[in-house]
Amino acid sequence: MTGEENLNPFAVAMAQFDRAACYLDLDDGLRELLKTPKRQLIVSIPVKMDDGGLRVFEGYRVQHNVARGPGKGGIRYHPDVTLDEVKALAMWMTWKCATVNLPYGGAKGGVRVNPKELSRGELERLTRRYATEIAPLIGPDRDIPAPDVYTDAQTMAWIMDTISMFKGHTELGVVTGKPVELGGSHGRQEATARGCQFVIREACRMLGLPLTGATVAVQGFGNAGSNVARFLHEDGARIIALSDSKGGIYNPHGIDPEAALEHKARTGALHGLPDTEAITNEELLELPCDILVPAALENQITRRNADRVRARLIAEAANGPTTPAADDILFERGITVIPDILANAGGVSVSYFEWVQDQYGFFWSEAEVRHHLERIMTRAFHEVRATAERHRVDLRRGAYILAIGRVAEATRVRGIFP
Ligand code: NAD
Repeated sequence: MTGEENLNPFAVAMAQFDRAACYLDLDDGLRELLKTPKRQLIVSIPVKMDDGGLRVFEGYRVQHNVARGPGKGGIRYHPDVTLDEVKALAMWMTWKCATVNLPYGGAKGGVRVNPKELSRGELERLTRRYATEIAPLIGPDRDIPAPDVYTDAQTMAWIMDTISMFKGHTELGVVTGKPVELGGSHGRQEATARGCQFVIREACRMLGLPLTGATVAVQGFGNAGSNVARFLHEDGARIIALSDSKGGIYNPHGIDPEAALEHKARTGALHGLPDTEAITNEELLELPCDILVPAALENQITRRNADRVRARLIAEAANGPTTPAADDILFERGITVIPDILANAGGVSVSYFEWVQDQYGFFWSEAEVRHHLERIMTRAFHEVRATAERHRVDLRRGAYILAIGRVAEATRVRGIFP
């Protein structure tokens, strides 16, 4: 808790829902149904460690809502993962898929583990056992996992292979974010960042903020953050600060993201990149800049620091980086926030393309992927903007009103079984 602010991610997700649902004509029962996760699975994962010992990890898979199609959502490996965090992430996936109008519901998985402490063999055994434990829930027509924090294409390949071994045949569509050599899609790796770039471009047009020369700070330098930095740099923006879990680097004259990637690959951290000074993750959020991109974890912009944020535009590549109290402060201060369920929906959109390609066994070029992604993200941005303007609310409420309305309508026409 920060002051009176409840930072439990599921409490935040509930509050975000309530703050938008009141704009829709929903009866109490339907509201209750839309807020409640459909299935929650907790599994224990025994792993034989390289030293001969045995360790047991806890894992989760939550399906929040499947009214519009199979559950969809990533798998996170992190020492702080909790069931409530996975429930929040699953709920955000429901609204995200609806915001960009994909035929999916929302789901998410996680394992409470520090993957940096495990060898590659230990990680493979952990992943294969976790996949086995959640196997009753997942499948191409049921629930389709993908990468998230500290999981990647290799993790997805192990899951796909494990499920395929049980089936007796190769089941490509059970996960997305796979290597391109193994039923993956061109453009999936960088899709989250590419989608973020497309909506940042639209937001800049809306605000009359030229992207060329705009100053950008990016928190988190993994898949989402490093690629956003690269793409905005290509668009002519000036990347003035970057950070990872060990801290940040700053140069008001600009940092070359490629040089930062190379430095991090060589040394394991961003710190020490020539011509930069060290800053903390907290300081990065408060730097004067045009565009701030949180691309790490939840609860970074809260009631505590929202009045010190000096960006004009915040694009949430991460899930849940801003709390509801912070949203109100930013809105009052005229700072535009492109909410996570829109800003980072490029990842799930190209996951959808991958799943379609796997089902058809017919694969697209990178240009086709990018074309369809741009179409989806641009349309979603303008639908969210129009909804927000109609209700005179911020873009997060606009996105939630649009998304909740779509899921509510799907639920209404399906009816309640039995
Ligand atoms: P990743 O594992 O590739 O990278 C995570 C990055 O965050 C690393 O650079 C790490 O050093 C940094 N980090 C970890 N803890 C931090 C801390 N306390 N402060 C600052 N940085 C920290 O993960 P990713 O896939 O890039 O995911 C990042 C965010 O984007 C998450 O919120 C995730 O849910 C969201 N997201 C990812 C995807 C995707 O397709 N990968 C899609 C949608 C949303």
